[in-house]
Amino acid sequence: MRSTGSWYDVRSKEGDILQCRLKGKFKIKGFKVTNPIAVGDKVVYAIEDENRNTGMISEILPRENYIIRKSVHKTAHGHLLATNIDQAVLIATLTFPRTSLGFIDRFLVAAESFRIPTVLIFNKLDLLNQEQIDYQQELTQLYESLNYPCVFTSAIDGNGVAEFYDILRGKVSLIAGHSGVGKSTLVNAIAPDLDLRTSKVSTFANKGVHTTTFAEMFEIDAETFIIDSPGIKELGLADMEKEEISHYFPEMLKLINQCRFNNCLHLDEPNCAIKEAVMEEKIAQSRYFSYLSMMDGGDNRK
Ligand code: GDP
Ligand code: ZN
Repeated sequence: MRSTGSWYDVRSKEGDILQCRLKGKFKIKGFKVTNPIAVGDKVVYAIEDENRNTGMISEILPRENYIIRKSVHKTAHGHLLATNIDQAVLIATLTFPRTSLGFIDRFLVAAESFRIPTVLIFNKLDLLNQEQIDYQQELTQLYESLNYPCVFTSAIDGNGVAEFYDILRGKVSLIAGHSGVGKSTLVNAIAPDLDLRTSKVSTFANKGVHTTTFAEMFEIDAETFIIDSPGIKELGLADMEKEEISHYFPEMLKLINQCRFNNCLHLDEPNCAIKEAVMEEKIAQSRYFSYLSMMDGGDNRK
């Protein structure tokens, strides 16, 4: 559920929380990490001290997926942010604050690269005028055609909050989005007592006070968990090769084989199927602009 230095909060199948340590050294094949265990890991443990609720972890089960980013301190190492994530839930707002399409697309590309499906939540529906509602409908059409479900919510008047819960139910979801989009308010709307139960550690509840850069998992109900990760904004584009980026745009991936050059970057090359699709409006301009800005290195400079 979370780590506090060399101790890990482990949730048992019954729902109790134990403080566990790691037995010996853990190596992970293929890459070096600064943290052997991350939020989301499933582990085998033995109870050490029943009175103090402590245990010893002996095994980490194979991971479905993981999010890793370059360690800030040891550049040759990766830092595991979270593992075994069923879906990412990106909370965005068209106003107050405005989430840019560039940010949304960059997030989606990173999530694709980690093979994590994403749902888009557009919050603060109550603040939108008709023109903005129409625009939001257009965005929904675009993103749903790419297999990213969209839900509109207002944490203030409760609109869409039940749908938000339905999206989360039975899954482990990574919650992401700019500060101020209403993440805490939405989560509190579906789990009012989470706040109470976690107020000592929650980054949701104690913004500003809490300074950890580690992700934490919270239990909404016995089958439903959310991961809050303060470091999620820098999500993974840093290590991506330029040739790779278009592979994480599902609508581009479909056409890549039809480009004349098999190493086409879809910039100035002749007979580029991607650029043709943009011209024919089969690929949204906004998505191609986001692609160009990622190729430009804006936020994925090494
Ligand atoms: P976080 O930083 O993403 O956790 O955002 P917060 O949950 O702290 O919300 C930031 C501000 O937006 C607070 O003042 C909330 O009351 C407000 N807010 C959250 N959701 C909504 C909404 O659906 N509509 C409106 N009008 N305000 C909202
Ligand atoms: Zn091309």
